[in-house]
Amino acid sequence: GTPARIDARSLDYSRMEAQYGDEQVRNFSFMSTITERKQIPCWLTYTNADTHKIIRDNLHLSGMFNGMIEGVGPRYCPSIEAKIVRFADKERHQLFVEPEGLRTNEMYVQGMSSSLPAHVQLQFMQTIPGLENCRMMRAGYAIDYDCLDPLQLQRTSEHKAISGLFSAGQANGTSGYEEAAAQGLLAGVNAMQKIRSKEPLILSRSEGYLGVLIDDLVTKGTNEPYRMMTSRAEYRLLLRQDNADLRLTEKGRAVGLVNDVRYEAFTAKRSLLERTLQNLSSTHLPPNAEVLAKLAELGTAPIRSGMSLLDLLRRSEMTYEKLQQAFEVPELPEVVAEQVEIFAKYEGYINKQKQEVEKALKLENKKIPADIDYLSIKELSSEAAEKLAKVKPASIGQASRISGVSPADVSVLMIALEVMRRKEYES
Ligand SMILES: Cc1cc2nc3c(=O)[nH]c(=O)nc-3n(C[C@H](O)[C@H](O)[C@H](O)COP(=O)(O)OP(=O)(O)OC[C@H]3O[C@@H](n4cnc5c(N)ncnc54)[C@H](O)[C@@H]3O)c2cc1C
Repeated sequence: GTPARIDARSLDYSRMEAQYGDEQVRNFSFMSTITERKQIPCWLTYTNADTHKIIRDNLHLSGMFNGMIEGVGPRYCPSIEAKIVRFADKERHQLFVEPEGLRTNEMYVQGMSSSLPAHVQLQFMQTIPGLENCRMMRAGYAIDYDCLDPLQLQRTSEHKAISGLFSAGQANGTSGYEEAAAQGLLAGVNAMQKIRSKEPLILSRSEGYLGVLIDDLVTKGTNEPYRMMTSRAEYRLLLRQDNADLRLTEKGRAVGLVNDVRYEAFTAKRSLLERTLQNLSSTHLPPNAEVLAKLAELGTAPIRSGMSLLDLLRRSEMTYEKLQQAFEVPELPEVVAEQVEIFAKYEGYINKQKQEVEKALKLENKKIPADIDYLSIKELSSEAAEKLAKVKPASIGQASRISGVSPADVSVLMIALEVMRRKEYES
């Protein structure tokens, strides 16, 4: 569903609270060089008892409540009707009135999705501070759609039963622009790889959110619109926006999606990063009077024995900029300096997570033959056998993530595979 769009010229901004954007502009793409762009604020306001009464009085007219729409709505962006019914004890709900662009008067009323008739939407919106005289430019609405069962897909996005059919996006049971775009990319790449008779691109759960998304879909399926929440990933210390290029550019290059200009920019950045880390770890500060004076000036504790610049940077109060002020380290582009700081401060935690990934990888590498007959493995619980037969996991790792497959079932499966392997060896 979506909320109404209202006319920016009909609002009373003195009754709402301005919400400004980030001070430091960050680019979506590593190739973008934009550092400044005109910013305009969003506005915060709230529903109240009058708004709620109008909605409650008209619930029978809401497609989501009167049976017209049968599907389950998206959990993370419920309609205003759903919020009022589900959270009946709440006296108010916050709304963000967001400009849709610099060259339009349309404002998006975030938090106010509705499938009530247009005249009811206008009526309840006009009870809200700042929106008393609002003009509605488009009414909100909800739609109901059907989808495939993603358990029918492989991790490449190809249909298990129909060779050459790749499926992506909302049709796989997801909701969201990024979810759809990311799957489209994967399905497109793998369709092309198949035509070229090349290895498919399969991203693991530790390599990218797209890896988590596709693994969740094809392993667990979904009975409500699936959203890629970051909390679904177990390796969030590794899956950061700041290192997306370091994680994925080589993979993109291998399938022909990274042109020379991007690749050269990327390798230059990566070598600068590696060189800097090398220099910082091999430059040692002696505990002499000059160094101690500099440290005092930077507001950090003195050192008793020699310390590398990298170890100094690990201190929470230290930044690369401070190292530059006091010691002769070269100036770096901001994105590289940021990477250096992240590496220095989180190295211990990141390495620990990498070890966890390696441990999990062992299970991912234990492949399961596609023709295995789960129903004939008597020691498996019947629920596990049924689920395994339906999902047809490619590895023990994937099998262990299927809901209904217990650690005991995983052990049984590993023994069964070992027995099969020995039998094959002996014959
Ligand atoms: C009202 C509403 C509000 C939403 N708000 C948000 C939001 O704020 N944020 C967010 O992230 N997501 C939002 N979503 C979800 C998001 O828009 C969708 O999940 C996403 O756009 C789906 O993309 P897709 O490419 O999978 O499908 P679509 O964008 O539906 O693309 C499918 C395309 O296939 C075409 N097509 C269908 N049949 C055929 C055929 N036989 N031959 C040729 N072409 C065909 C269709 O015309 C369409 O262009 C919203 C969805 C709705 C409905």
